[in-house]
Amino acid sequence: MRLKVFLAIMLVLVVLPNIAHTEPNLDSVAERHYDQAFLERSEAYHAPRISSFILRSVIQLVVLWGFALLLAPKLFSHGSHRIPNWVRRWIGLTVAWGLSLLIRIPFTAHAFSRAREFGLRHDSWGSFAMDWAQGAAIQWVLVSVVGLCLLGFLGQGRRFGWAMAGTLISVLACAYAYVAPIVIDPLFNQIRPLEESELRTEVVHLVQQSGLELEGVWVADASRRTRAVNAYFTGFGSSRRVVLYDTLIDTLPKDEALLVVAHELGHWQKQHVNKGLLMGLVATFAGLALAQFLMNRVARRQGSSPLKNLTSPAWAPVAYAVYVSVFLLSLPVSNSISRAMETEADQVALKLIQTPDVFIDAKVRMAKQNLSNVNPPRWVEVIFFTHPSNVRRIALAEAGL
Ligand SMILES: [Zn+2]
Repeated sequence: MRLKVFLAIMLVLVVLPNIAHTEPNLDSVAERHYDQAFLERSEAYHAPRISSFILRSVIQLVVLWGFALLLAPKLFSHGSHRIPNWVRRWIGLTVAWGLSLLIRIPFTAHAFSRAREFGLRHDSWGSFAMDWAQGAAIQWVLVSVVGLCLLGFLGQGRRFGWAMAGTLISVLACAYAYVAPIVIDPLFNQIRPLEESELRTEVVHLVQQSGLELEGVWVADASRRTRAVNAYFTGFGSSRRVVLYDTLIDTLPKDEALLVVAHELGHWQKQHVNKGLLMGLVATFAGLALAQFLMNRVARRQGSSPLKNLTSPAWAPVAYAVYVSVFLLSLPVSNSISRAMETEADQVALKLIQTPDVFIDAKVRMAKQNLSNVNPPRWVEVIFFTHPSNVRRIALAEAGL
């Protein structure tokens, strides 16, 4: 009961003011920088994507909870002496994850087909399927390793099982953040250092100006599947790096490409990867402590269900359903933290570059090329957007003009 009151207060304090807030000035920013044809085309592309995400999430939650609460307890009601318990847990996890994957297939294929229709993707169905299968395989390994560790620790019912599980997850998360740019990213793109060029010389100059040590500026061959322009900051410790899409280097004028680098340097300067990792770890420890508390409570109330036994593999699909639910419900919170970081990085970029009009030109050009949802309804931005909307970013630069 106390938990429900807490959640209700959080909802009122965090989500509602964000959604209720209306900003007519953003509409005028949109009208000044984009023509009606672009805004309509963007709306036509994005509106179905949002409804499709909501529909997919609802189906996923119904199927995962249905499997976890109705079917899995029957499947795992008898102990088996032949199959070790961890293998049965792993089967429970894999089936839950597999169901969720099957639900995503038609949605993902439809999204890819629409991206092709709107000229945003030009890779073949074969290479798309290959990328998708690779991504799914990596996810399956992560779900198996992390899920089995968690269930192993929490299932023992020891008082500090959550702390041990949290420590292990922290180590795995840091290791993943470190190796992802070196091991995972190259599976999807060829990533090479930015060659000697005028752009590189200016990037090095910009980095010196920002007072940071250059650990690497890399280029990913994104052009083989998309014409969208992008750049990202990734890695941890000595693996941290700025990665630019080759599309960005090829299609953006140099000063606009530099602005994108300056934004990524903003993430670097403000330590966003480290902060994000730290917040993630605090949330993980808190979530695991709560999970352990709830598992013990639920187990005590079960009559004949296998869930009365904390070591039962029937807990595996429950754990996966909880994970997906928490992920979806926490989107407004995690995305509002992400948007705050993006705004900080924009502010650093504007300070470094000192030319707000270049910032605005770059944002408009990138939005047109990426067919971005430039001025979404506020609730869409709050729930789904990892970056502030395009017009909000332009308004930030205009405020400094
Ligand atoms: Zn950013």
